[in-house]
Amino acid sequence: MLLDDEIVRLVGIGDRALAILSEPGRTITIRLHTYLPSMGRVSIPAYVVYHNDARGPPCKGGIRMSRHVTLEETTQLAEIMTYKNALMKLPFGGGKAGIAADSQLPPLDKEIVMHEFTHEIKDELFSGAYVPAPDLGTGPREMAAIFGETHMRESVTGKPVGIGGLPGREEATGYGVATVAEHAVREFLNSELQDVTIGVQGFGNVGSWTSRFLAEKGAKIIAVTDAKGGTIERSGIDVEGLKKFSAEHGSVDGYCGKHLSNEELFKLDVDVLIPAAVGGVISSENASDVRARLIIEGANAPTTKDADAILAQRKIIIVPDILANAGGVVASYDEWRKGKSGSRTKREETFATIREVLLEVFDEVLRYSAEKEVSLRKAALALAAGRLLETMESRGWM
Ligand code: NAD
Repeated sequence: MLLDDEIVRLVGIGDRALAILSEPGRTITIRLHTYLPSMGRVSIPAYVVYHNDARGPPCKGGIRMSRHVTLEETTQLAEIMTYKNALMKLPFGGGKAGIAADSQLPPLDKEIVMHEFTHEIKDELFSGAYVPAPDLGTGPREMAAIFGETHMRESVTGKPVGIGGLPGREEATGYGVATVAEHAVREFLNSELQDVTIGVQGFGNVGSWTSRFLAEKGAKIIAVTDAKGGTIERSGIDVEGLKKFSAEHGSVDGYCGKHLSNEELFKLDVDVLIPAAVGGVISSENASDVRARLIIEGANAPTTKDADAILAQRKIIIVPDILANAGGVVASYDEWRKGKSGSRTKREETFATIREVLLEVFDEVLRYSAEKEVSLRKAALALAAGRLLETMESRGWM
């Protein structure tokens, strides 16, 4: 459970509310029996978890496609969404879906898996109980497959713009991470982005857009890694060049002839680290070696509980996932709300909304953290839990 005793005490969460928040509200377990051209007959486990729908329906959270997907991970990610949505004051419960298939499946195989999955969860989609979005291993194309089945624009967000997707949604999470990073560098390092060095893990949707926006603002991205390796350039990486290289080679590994492993990235002498790939990458095994002064969590749950404690002791500031990477769901709210007209919105309007919402919540988290003398993570979770508690009370759940 994300809430610890200190947060429970700070917010005044009673036993009844705690019992509700400590278990997922609903768990759906599925097996996708199908035929994939590259693999033959398969039977793929998949899950949908609603952690808490006090602020919904719908429950909102992305669909992850990865060989490592488990029910436990999907449940943890759904719980994160409960607090992220509440922190951002969105009328969404926390949900998540996971498909335990390789994210690198050939496009046709991926399409078959998505159609099969959509078919299996059609009741959730048509009733509006679950509104998916992209996550690790999925993107606009997979969301289009869902729309292809439901023919309801509000049934899924992160769609291509031509079918009602929101301009700026694809970049939204990265835009938010970069905006929060700029603000945090000013607040905690007393510097401007142009004066700091940054290392990024992950160069998919979140990592690449974060790097791009940060580079545009003049930051020096000196190291980037992905699942296959990485690269380093002390004078600053040309992010646009890296993007082309990664599209051609399927990885950032060895760009400019220089290699960097994921293990090396976390020990690197940089000012800011942005994990934007998978969960649990900063653990008790490497937390003592981290040399960055500031960590911005682009990924969900990149820091384990043990590592969190070690980093706090070492006075390394962490801007938590439920704040740092919430730009995506804030934009998704607009896409969902605008339904049929999403694609008429301008990209800049989407960015302005993300900036306004994220920075307002950032300041709120900062104030709470200073007032109660707790970490930014605890402050963010406590504020979110407070909003959730109020909603549950107003619905007569308590
Ligand atoms: P993606 O599939 O587009 O990209 C994932 C990237 O991580 C790729 O570069 C991949 O090579 C790399 N990666 C995978 N496994 C790795 C490993 N073991 N070590 C190092 N790198 C690895 O996924 P994404 O949408 O960019 O999501 C990344 C993270 O951001 C996830 O934790 C996701 O939950 C979180 N997130 C995504 C969104 C969104 O809008 N897409 C929103 C909020 C949070």
